[in-house]
Amino acid sequence: MHKVTFIDGDGIGPEIAKVTRDCLEATGVKFDWDIKQAGIDIMEKEGTPLPANVIESIKKNKIAIKAPITTPIGKGFRSVNVTLRKELDLYACLRPCRIYPGVKTKFKDVDLVVVRENTEDLYAGIEFDLGSSELEDIKKCVNQLSPQKIKDDAALSLKPISISGTERIVKFAFEYAKAHGRKKVTAVTKANIMKHTDGLFYRVARDIATSYPGITYEETLVDAMCMHLVQHPEWYDVLVMPNLYGDILSDLCAGLVGGLGVAPGGNFGKDMAIFEATHGSAPKYKGMNKVNPTALLLSGVMMLHHLNESDAANRLEKAISHVIQEGKDVTYDLKPRKDDVTAVGTSQMGEAIIRHLKG
Ligand code: NAD
Repeated sequence: MHKVTFIDGDGIGPEIAKVTRDCLEATGVKFDWDIKQAGIDIMEKEGTPLPANVIESIKKNKIAIKAPITTPIGKGFRSVNVTLRKELDLYACLRPCRIYPGVKTKFKDVDLVVVRENTEDLYAGIEFDLGSSELEDIKKCVNQLSPQKIKDDAALSLKPISISGTERIVKFAFEYAKAHGRKKVTAVTKANIMKHTDGLFYRVARDIATSYPGITYEETLVDAMCMHLVQHPEWYDVLVMPNLYGDILSDLCAGLVGGLGVAPGGNFGKDMAIFEATHGSAPKYKGMNKVNPTALLLSGVMMLHHLNESDAANRLEKAISHVIQEGKDVTYDLKPRKDDVTAVGTSQMGEAIIRHLKG
């Protein structure tokens, strides 16, 4: 019996969470779910989008699976997703991107893995709002110390990149490559412009790479990487990068393999992990039983591997792949046309996967 925290999320979260629980249970693996609420809905009831019992539960169980949670743009509460990763020091985000037969894509053979640093960079949350006294103090200081001046009407976000933070994420990428028979790790930054922060990332990465002589190490700047990925995704294997580039390239790579509906992920710390889809809470589809549950289901497959339930993981992945390839009981995004009237709902796709698992 595995005790796992399950966070239902908001928007489309609860719908895909239910399907994922049902499919994970249908593998025969026994779970003792600790179901927790976080996000906009619980905010209205409890005054916080992340009640303390959510963090306590994950700290106790050491493993969680989470449906997406909305983050208000430019105002309101800070991202629950970012807070969880920082609070629990889940420093590595792993996003495997591979094409399942039957998914519409422009490419044939994409099979790459994005390893994103999760705790530093412009995402660290060190921001200063226009009009704040703290911002005025920092501007004075920077304007004295730097030849580059900050404009009077500018707000400010800081980008910390540390040696220790870089060491652990690059090691994570190489260890993943080693464990999964991957041949190459590519570090992605913009070190030609951000010489001190991204430059440090490259210096540390080069050093770590020398401990893995069997794995090729290379560096590509993020702008060039965007172009290469949409022309030759087959050139790449494992990509490792700081937080912001990782956020953007994860969605780009999800697009290469068929879109956000099929892109899973996991966030890892020293002894804890949270599995979640790459996509967000898609609020416009809330309660419509419409969206594709595959991304959270494949995150569940990653979780089963993490729990050493690899037989169940492989059976669930095969059932998902079968339903996608058959193309009958799939959601709108997996049909040749988005307005295809034969598309089924989230729960019906889940039921088809369970039929294949059991059949
Ligand atoms: P989104 O990923 O929620 O949705 C963008 C579009 O992608 C949707 O409108 C839909 O067309 C498509 N899509 C997404 N998931 C799909 C699925 N499962 N099946 C089929 N189509 C799907 O991105 P957004 O609209 O930018 O973000 C909505 C909210 O989610 C924001 O508040 C954002 O901050 C949050 N978010 C949360 C997480 C997370 O919880 N880890 C991740 C990303 C975004």
